[in-house]
Amino acid sequence: MPQPVNTGEIPLEMYERILPEEIAKLRQLAGDLKGARVLHINSTPYGGGVSELLRSQVPFERALGIDANWQVISGEPSFFRVTKAFHNALQGGAHSLTRADQEIYLAYSSLNAKDLKGDYDFIIVHDPQPAAIRSLRPDINAHWIWRCHVDTSNPNPEVWDFLVDYVNAYDAAVFTLREFKPYGIKIRVETITPAIDPLSPKNMELPDEMISHLVNWTGVSDDSPLICQVSRFDVWKDPLGVIEAYRLVKQEIPNVNLALVGSMALDDPEGWDMYEKLLEASRKDEQIHIYTNVGDLQVNAFQRLSDVVIQKSIREGFGLVVSETLWKGTPVVAGKAGGIPIQMAGGGGFLVESIEETAKRVLELLSNPVMAAEEGKRGKEHVRKNFLITRLIKDELMLLESLVYKFSSISVEDSGKSA
Ligand code: UDP
Repeated sequence: MPQPVNTGEIPLEMYERILPEEIAKLRQLAGDLKGARVLHINSTPYGGGVSELLRSQVPFERALGIDANWQVISGEPSFFRVTKAFHNALQGGAHSLTRADQEIYLAYSSLNAKDLKGDYDFIIVHDPQPAAIRSLRPDINAHWIWRCHVDTSNPNPEVWDFLVDYVNAYDAAVFTLREFKPYGIKIRVETITPAIDPLSPKNMELPDEMISHLVNWTGVSDDSPLICQVSRFDVWKDPLGVIEAYRLVKQEIPNVNLALVGSMALDDPEGWDMYEKLLEASRKDEQIHIYTNVGDLQVNAFQRLSDVVIQKSIREGFGLVVSETLWKGTPVVAGKAGGIPIQMAGGGGFLVESIEETAKRVLELLSNPVMAAEEGKRGKEHVRKNFLITRLIKDELMLLESLVYKFSSISVEDSGKSA
């Protein structure tokens, strides 16, 4: 049942041109892990931050001589409805765990576990969807890591009490922030922040003419102010709140346009419901543009061409879109949630906690292009120092080595503070 995901190839020489010292360090660090068989398991090959990370991380590790692989688990819609409810509950949402939920979760976990081939030195399991697989395959003698990308600082106890024993079967758990460590964890815990790939189609440089062309192609003109949010259509990302904030901005700047760019992930069955709500909320306003499944290059262009990018998250794991946007020098107005504040610690725009504040900050940036450019510049520099993929790979390789050579901490205290 787990399906392999094909990834492209990473030409390390291209990265060497922009990050020479970092690549040299990585080559050295990877020396001891040459040939190590690493498997990443998650639940969707596209849509959302985890697949975005793995699409670069896996070929990057391969380019360094590690035998890295990626597989996605599969299941019927009933399974993904349960795991999406778990995802929401782990971020603190209300959920009454039923016996049916547990049975569905375990039935699909068993099917996926049964077919997993075990010839790996390290197995890194991402998020709650595949978390039970480790307990169901005690025969696989690898180092098992549970990599949690969501905010589990205050999980719904019914769901977490059910999942925690499965998590405690791993050798280590990795969270995005130290504060995300939930109660009841008895295994080793590390903290690693995600990062962006500066040369992926999502983030690479584009000529100005192409940026305009890619956005114009979607029907958005580039001769009016543009604000946008790029996110799954998910209640925690508050796209309805973005529309309300846009309406306040429009009272002051009538020709402003809003683009809501949202992908539909395989493991997120709630996306279409939210899409319907957004269509309803934006009816009769031709300046609101709602898109699903826009390609990487066009997302890249939206993040570059927008005057301000909003990320109005209420709960957030990391929020990769913030670093993606800042890397392009575009200022961001974002919810004070999860990993967003550490991405904006060096500037890059404003953190907000309400619709009114979002509108106020967007207006401030729209009416002050010099300040907007300055914020964008500072944000980019902070991402360059802290949130590029070389730092993520370094942290991960150190974690793998520490599991083999049994040193107790990989000092990822530094994670997010140095490139
Ligand atoms: N994304 C995309 N197209 C969209 C919406 C989102 O490619 O229409 C990507 C976005 O660029 C980012 C990822 O999905 O790389 C979202 O990651 P993030 O960590 O922000 O949120 P998550 O979805 O994991 O909660």
